[in-house]
Amino acid sequence: MTNSDQPLQTKDGLPVFRLGYGTLTLAKSQKNLAVSAAADLFSYAFERGIKWFDTAELYDNYEQLARFLKETSGQPFISTKSYAFDRKGLNASLDAARRRLGVETIDLFMLHEQVDKKTLAGHREAFKALLDAKEKGIVRYVGVSTHAVSVVTSIADEVSLKASLDPDFDTSIYRHTDVLFPLLSQSGYGLLDGTASEMAKAAAEAAKTGITVLGMKLFGGGHLLYKREAVVADALSQSFVSAWSVGMGSISEIETNLAWFKGETPDRRWLDASAALPRRLQVTDDCTRCGRCVARCNSGAMRLGAYTAVSDPEKCTLCSYCASVCEDMAIKIF
Ligand code: SF4
Ligand code: SF4
Repeated sequence: MTNSDQPLQTKDGLPVFRLGYGTLTLAKSQKNLAVSAAADLFSYAFERGIKWFDTAELYDNYEQLARFLKETSGQPFISTKSYAFDRKGLNASLDAARRRLGVETIDLFMLHEQVDKKTLAGHREAFKALLDAKEKGIVRYVGVSTHAVSVVTSIADEVSLKASLDPDFDTSIYRHTDVLFPLLSQSGYGLLDGTASEMAKAAAEAAKTGITVLGMKLFGGGHLLYKREAVVADALSQSFVSAWSVGMGSISEIETNLAWFKGETPDRRWLDASAALPRRLQVTDDCTRCGRCVARCNSGAMRLGAYTAVSDPEKCTLCSYCASVCEDMAIKIF
């Protein structure tokens, strides 16, 4: 059973290259790049062969992409996501995305970050609205993003008619899932259930049902950047993943990743520039002040502030050990 005409293609008919652009890196919560500067980076990446750009309503960076889309003569592949759980909310998200991006059609629209089967069942009206939008040509592909193995498994089971994901509701609409976008980090950092290898196995099984699998969090939210080459080599060996969304904040990072994704050795000047980029740690508002990061930090660099954990840049070595114990994915190193 094939749900989508794989591989994903841009409107120009170009296949989506295995390296995609995760645009959160440039959004307000991270680098907060000016619209024109972000659009320049997207244009550069596009000209160099990156065709897929991933965003989300949550990232609040549609304007960065809109500028790029307005200025390019090509047809990049744009994906976005929404937390909407009902038809009204989903349609509002879809309208906002089209208006703010300045496009008639969204290439891929996904339910954002589904946490378990119950959540999926609870979002069935939103998914139905997505399927209707696809029918009308407003959306080309529909999908689900998730950090949970159980979500990947249950959608694959639904698509292959093995099991209903929730017997209390009619969830058969999920048989029309074109794309799954799971967290596939080598470290498993950020998974809500299971292990990295269980997620890889579940995603591989899902791909066998005809679903297109896209991978996210390749570098574990930043804490695997120190072994980027090995991580990319491992990613490329996972043939069931059609493409990976990777956050990139500079031309040197784009060039370095492009080379590795092509199986080439990056030019030394890009490697050096990429390694020399100033990096910093940020604790987001997702922090619940659980204190795990404080206990994990051997450098005494992390403490609990009034609202979130706070790192001391004088002591922090950016080792990222704290990020690996944060279940709320509130620690970003970029
Ligand atoms: S581990 Fe994460 S959620 Fe817990 S205090 Fe640290 S940053 Fe906040
Ligand atoms: S990155 Fe390393 S040194 Fe910095 S706060 Fe986290 S655990 Fe401590």
